[in-house]
Amino acid sequence: MVFYSTRSKDIQANSAEAVLKGIAPDGGLYTPLDFESMRIDLSSLLGKSAVEISAEVIGKILDDFTPEEMRALIEAAYAGKFETEDLTPVEKVGGDFVLELFRGPTSAFKDVALSVLPRLIVASREKLGVKDEIVILTATSGDTGKAALEGFHDVAGTRIAVFYPDGGVSDVQKAQMVTQEGGNVRVCAVRGNFDDAQTGVKRIFADDSRNGWAALSGARLSSANSINIGRLAPQVAYYFKAYCDLVLGGEISLGDPVNFVVPTGNFGDILAGEFARRMGLPVAKLVCASNANNVLTDFINTGVYDKRRDFYKTASPSMDILVSSNLERYLFMASGGDFELVSRLMADLNEKGVYTAPETLMSTMRDHFAAACADDRAALEAIGRVWREHGYLMDTHTAVGWAALEQFKATQDNGYANIVLSTASPYKFCRDVLSAISDQVPADGFEAMDRLHALTQVPVPPRLAALRDKPARFKDCVDRDGMLEYVREMLG
Ligand SMILES: *Cc1c(COP(=O)(O)O)cnc(C)c1O
Repeated sequence: MVFYSTRSKDIQANSAEAVLKGIAPDGGLYTPLDFESMRIDLSSLLGKSAVEISAEVIGKILDDFTPEEMRALIEAAYAGKFETEDLTPVEKVGGDFVLELFRGPTSAFKDVALSVLPRLIVASREKLGVKDEIVILTATSGDTGKAALEGFHDVAGTRIAVFYPDGGVSDVQKAQMVTQEGGNVRVCAVRGNFDDAQTGVKRIFADDSRNGWAALSGARLSSANSINIGRLAPQVAYYFKAYCDLVLGGEISLGDPVNFVVPTGNFGDILAGEFARRMGLPVAKLVCASNANNVLTDFINTGVYDKRRDFYKTASPSMDILVSSNLERYLFMASGGDFELVSRLMADLNEKGVYTAPETLMSTMRDHFAAACADDRAALEAIGRVWREHGYLMDTHTAVGWAALEQFKATQDNGYANIVLSTASPYKFCRDVLSAISDQVPADGFEAMDRLHALTQVPVPPRLAALRDKPARFKDCVDRDGMLEYVREMLG
């Protein structure tokens, strides 16, 4: 499989190189175009375990690994880490379905990919005979950071630094990160929002490509963000798995189209759904759900991507994003690999803060995508209603998805089964979730956790409950412009 940089014709990589580099040297994102050769025979997946389905799907995309290698890698990656053997169970809620992606070690959907990525990186490093230490730099809106730390801590040959927006993550999320154990980890707050942290990381990569300082320290920079194709590939698997579960449960027949509703930030999760569709999964619509930072809703509806707008801190902080990196991959795929177009649009975004996509591309996009947004009020209202009506407790991100589903059904219902991707445990966002079902909300996140449990009896993930007694290890905080120095100092 050839992975192309989205920005220049002559930059290509195989899957191992793409995983190891994370981002292309020109700032583009490694993206495949030949989805025909990745087609999956759906009927052959029925009855297979989650691990088998993952190995098969990921192996199609990252084809430098033999089926045996991939199978062993995936088995080791997930062994004993998730609450359930099927990794990502589907629950029926009313007449719709919720795909629970949060049953992993950090209680967010990022675990599905970040349990696998470190092993993919180590295996790619070996395959390519690279001796340098791999240094992972990650900007996080709250969940990626912890899931990446959990995946990489004490993995030989790697180090990891995580940057999160100071004051931009929940109490539980912050506690998860700053208490992280491991000899090869660093956690640092950035004064600014997620986009500042993400821009800072991209600048560090760009500076190193120009000046090559990492190599002088025997290191090589890479990324655990969803700009790494090794992050996206494992996410494609659960779309297939959920579909098989519905077929096996008698809810749909093999071949029936389904809709997926995806709470979206960086456009990674939903792009994995587009990969699944192109690999043969019968997907009718991918519904892109946004919170008050609704830049994607506007883009899908108008074709104008305009980041020049107020940034809102919402109750779904992992979706508080105005520059959705993976949309660049979609533009590339939907334009049939038009490097020049993508470079031009990305330059516009960089220089003017806005771009307009061609109408032909937008009409392709609208064939497969719908968009809806829900502010905090609508999301919290959905949490309360679904709890009262169905006894199902959602987190704030999933609630944005649920509210988007309701809008979608009200305006564009196509009659197919709907699957909402549930991206986090309600116990990661205790105060906001509690406020949706109760008037009494303690100021402290952990007291809110106790009360949420007392009211609902929904089990608290043990690792979240244990956090309150863990000492903080990391107190660093830098400005966006101080991030480069921080990393150079870390490398010594
Ligand atoms: C990261 C995240 C999202 C958004 O996923 P993208 O791949 O960035 O679109 C949604 N919900 C939660 C809980 C997340 O952690």
